[in-house]
Amino acid sequence: MRKFSFEERSQYWDRLDQFEFDLLIIGGGINGAGVARDASSRGLKVALVEANDFASGTSSRSSKLIHGGIRYLENMEFKLVFEALNERTKLFQIAPHLVHPLRFMIPLYENSRVGMFKMGLGMWLYDALSLFQTPEMHERLSADESYKRMPLLQKKDLKGSYVYSDAYTDDDRLVHETLRSAHEMGAIALNYVKAKKANFREDGKIQTVLVYDTLTGKEKLVRAKHVVGSVGPWTDILGTDFFPQWKKVLRPTKGIHITVSKARLPLSSAIVMAAEKSDRIIFGIPRHEMVIIGTTDTDFNENPGEVVATAEDVKYLLGVVEQYFPGAQLKTEDIMATYAGVRPLVNDGSSIEGKVSREHTIWTLDDRHMTFVAGGKYTTYRLMAQEVVDKVLSCFSLEQKSLFQRPKTEQPLLPEVSPDLYQQALATASHLAETFMRSPSEVMTLCERYGMEAQAILSRNPTHYSYWQLEASQAIEYTMCLNLVDFYSRRVPLFLARADHGEPVLEEVIEVFAEMLTWNSEKIEQEKLLLKAYMSHELSWQSKM
Ligand code: FAD
Repeated sequence: MRKFSFEERSQYWDRLDQFEFDLLIIGGGINGAGVARDASSRGLKVALVEANDFASGTSSRSSKLIHGGIRYLENMEFKLVFEALNERTKLFQIAPHLVHPLRFMIPLYENSRVGMFKMGLGMWLYDALSLFQTPEMHERLSADESYKRMPLLQKKDLKGSYVYSDAYTDDDRLVHETLRSAHEMGAIALNYVKAKKANFREDGKIQTVLVYDTLTGKEKLVRAKHVVGSVGPWTDILGTDFFPQWKKVLRPTKGIHITVSKARLPLSSAIVMAAEKSDRIIFGIPRHEMVIIGTTDTDFNENPGEVVATAEDVKYLLGVVEQYFPGAQLKTEDIMATYAGVRPLVNDGSSIEGKVSREHTIWTLDDRHMTFVAGGKYTTYRLMAQEVVDKVLSCFSLEQKSLFQRPKTEQPLLPEVSPDLYQQALATASHLAETFMRSPSEVMTLCERYGMEAQAILSRNPTHYSYWQLEASQAIEYTMCLNLVDFYSRRVPLFLARADHGEPVLEEVIEVFAEMLTWNSEKIEQEKLLLKAYMSHELSWQSKM
């Protein structure tokens, strides 16, 4: 695999104004990354700029589920569910190291809004809409069977449950791996580069985009035949920066999650909990490293970069858990971390909070040569990206279009992680551990996270590196990770999945950053302070409980 590090970043900065790109993508969340991969797989010359770290927006702040969205069945959004379930099937093939099947239980009580019969129909429909390409078909359990399987569950008035399949992912890493894949196919991508404004030709088309390197303070004009705005909840901000006549399109909502250790809430599968006095559902999601509980859905009109969980949000989620798992007695002190994100939902005129459609919207300002994409679900990003690039190409001449091929986005993201190779990597983990004289559990974790690339990670790094040092080196060299906050929050789950937030391994991680990025002691201190400030900001609700 080609490196994708600070060195490439500086070469790409030099190249940004040397060509006319076919496509300039603004925003390095999952949608921008997906468009970059799709377009470069067709042979377009692509550049992508991200104002912050890749995936630092909504794309690292989701429920981290690859799912059809069982609750959209109630709103009769069958097309959305069908597309999402189909994409789920594809993602198992494209990224088996990042998308893992998971069973979900929906317990139903005497006072549940939906009864066993209606839920059963929904379950059949859910499996059918996946064309029965589900990891496992749904099951119907009696109250006793449900309780046996999930002994912590509230037993009073329990009528029974359904158990069905969906999947969980590492949303942040899926963005990084999608970008790496685009990069392999020729796309260039830079983090910490913000698109500030557009300059127009006399006929109204975008001539150049002014971009600003937030690390060096330098600016540049980038030329591209077409520009895509995939800035999620920042769509109205970018729109206003680029076009003085911009009319607001979004109705953003905020969603928060809490994380707890698997020991504090030992769930035998994920659980779907209905919030009292509303039709919201809250997931409890046990993963490799932690249990994630969320989410909320409330209107949010502030700066998306400032979104944070409040004490009220946290109490709300704890209340729902109390209702379903009273015996667990989950308290504020059990919460390891929280995170909040903003849904970039397109305003469909709905008057009810939480009812705005999850469908995506793609629109081209034809006379400007700019296309926007907003809304939608993480799960369907590949399909959305394809639609975006089709739309972009509809603005190109026939002659220009004839140069490009069909997209190749159904292939595995990286050659080392096809489903077969992934299984092979897991099967050979103990052999690798012996070869490299390392702890079998650490090597297994590396194989689970990187598939066959784990072998390359072990061979290219010094043998004395600890597990977290291997991760740091990989993050710096292959995901353009430039600082500690980005490492702790989006490359590894040190902040989210550990009560100590990775404090005990900080010095060893810094050693690698300092060596590779030539940090002096002043820079190290500054980085430590920034990491501390980041964590305090994310956990600022604690002082208000
Ligand atoms: P973002 O990830 O926000 O990316 C936009 C990027 O643009 C940001 O990184 C930002 O820094 C950058 N940017 C902004 N302005 C500029 C500029 N001027 N120049 C350069 N860059 C700029 N979907 C699912 O399928 N499954 C789920 O479980 C799920 N759960 C969710 C839970 C919550 C709480 C939320 C909020 C959403 C959830 N979603 C889920 C939806 C999904 O996460 C989003 O649809 C998706 O992440 C949006 O990606 P994006 O690329 O459009 O936006």
